[in-house]
Amino acid sequence: MKRFLFLFSFQLHPDYLSTFQFQKDKDVLVFVDSDDQWTYYHFHKQRLLLHLSSVHHYVDALKQEGYHVEVLHSKTLRESLLRYPELYAFEPTNRYEKSWLASHPKITLLPDPLFLIPDQEWLTLLPEGKPHKLDPLYRQFRLRFKILMEADKPIGGQFSFDKENRKPASTNLTFEPPMFFAPDAITLSLASEIETRFKRHPGQLASFQYPVTRNDALLSFDHFLTHRLPTFGDHQDAMIDHLPWMSHSLISSSLNLGLLSPKEVIDGAIRTYKKGWASLASTEGFIRQILGWREYVRGIYLVSDDSYLHRNALNHHQPLPSFYYDAKTDMNCLHTTIQETIHHGYNHHIQRLMVLSNYASLASVNPFELNRWFNEMYIDSSEWIVAANVIGMGGYADGGFMSTKPYVSSGSYIHKMSNYCASCTYKVELKTGDKACPFNILYWDYIDRHQDTFKQNPRMSMMVNVWKKMDPTVKETLLNEAKIKVKQHG
Ligand code: SF4
Repeated sequence: MKRFLFLFSFQLHPDYLSTFQFQKDKDVLVFVDSDDQWTYYHFHKQRLLLHLSSVHHYVDALKQEGYHVEVLHSKTLRESLLRYPELYAFEPTNRYEKSWLASHPKITLLPDPLFLIPDQEWLTLLPEGKPHKLDPLYRQFRLRFKILMEADKPIGGQFSFDKENRKPASTNLTFEPPMFFAPDAITLSLASEIETRFKRHPGQLASFQYPVTRNDALLSFDHFLTHRLPTFGDHQDAMIDHLPWMSHSLISSSLNLGLLSPKEVIDGAIRTYKKGWASLASTEGFIRQILGWREYVRGIYLVSDDSYLHRNALNHHQPLPSFYYDAKTDMNCLHTTIQETIHHGYNHHIQRLMVLSNYASLASVNPFELNRWFNEMYIDSSEWIVAANVIGMGGYADGGFMSTKPYVSSGSYIHKMSNYCASCTYKVELKTGDKACPFNILYWDYIDRHQDTFKQNPRMSMMVNVWKKMDPTVKETLLNEAKIKVKQHG
């Protein structure tokens, strides 16, 4: 009997077809280009191009191999799917995508074969009512999948080399550039369609250069393993204004589209380590992001409901400053980072956490608005990934559900880890006054506002005590200047 299998634009890995036992001579593959998928969030133009071009390339390749593929166009996904009386699909993680599929009267949903931890396990792994931590789960996963283990002991005697991955920035650092791909005729034609069809969406397309085929994604990943994984670990938390990619893998867009699978990425890193090309610290740091963090944030999303996106434990209600969309700010760390977001739809994790999310937390920006921005602006975004990173880790808006402390800092952290401060209008060494770094002023305002919440927190209580003991006149000046800074910077 002929079966119809619908795939989303992020389900492009061959494992979907093999898991389904797709029969070329009988079954039909269905893709849908519907407006609701591209506008549910006001996605960056490069993200739209990445998804649309990848689907086009995949469909062309499948047709050449003799697959029967249908591509439908509609305003809503539902309209297209309802043309099929009976349908199969792989269950998406995002709730809004699940709800679109659920509106079909006869759809069979299959578990996603690419994730390492099956959906139903998360309720046990993350029991209700308890705060969660990545570390014990990461250890469990290392043992379970026998990754970087010798019998039941981690290779190198420790599970995490995180502390060795935090070397500061230095302007004479150099890295082999990532492997990029010039857009081909399909991508260029879709780019011009996107400029018309989604003209009000943020971001610029001119510098689009990400892989849009599995072959290119594999080439790019292989290039990373050979040339960049060895230099990934040491400086993975550093930020340099002329090196937006540093030595990061840039595989997140390919992973989240299914051009690569987590398993093959982890296997590749282990192969590179075994050849002696990358240190244990670099390899472990990379694997922790995939096996640990990526699976963990998905688990948090799966055990939560939509109310998680509206959590606002710290009562932050300021609107997101307009400079998050146009980079028009004289704070150089934010200006540089957001310019990169606009041009590439990409920032690495420390820029996202310690510049963008940090500033928003200090300036009391509503976490729901920040969550929306992160969903919109990155080529690798998906609601299940963004939620725990922004609402949980970045904003502490979930009250510590998945993170033991808020990730906030004064300008000194950014100064230590980047070269942004050297060419900033503000002076990072000044604590008060017109030229003082806004992060310095807003940091103390944040501690003042949330001292009751954090006075018992073992990782925050020291700063609360410092604030309590500070000279009252300095405190008054800082609080007054914080009000001015929030007004000045929107
Ligand atoms: Fe950012 Fe402050 Fe440094 Fe300027 S001085 S780049 S605002 S941290």
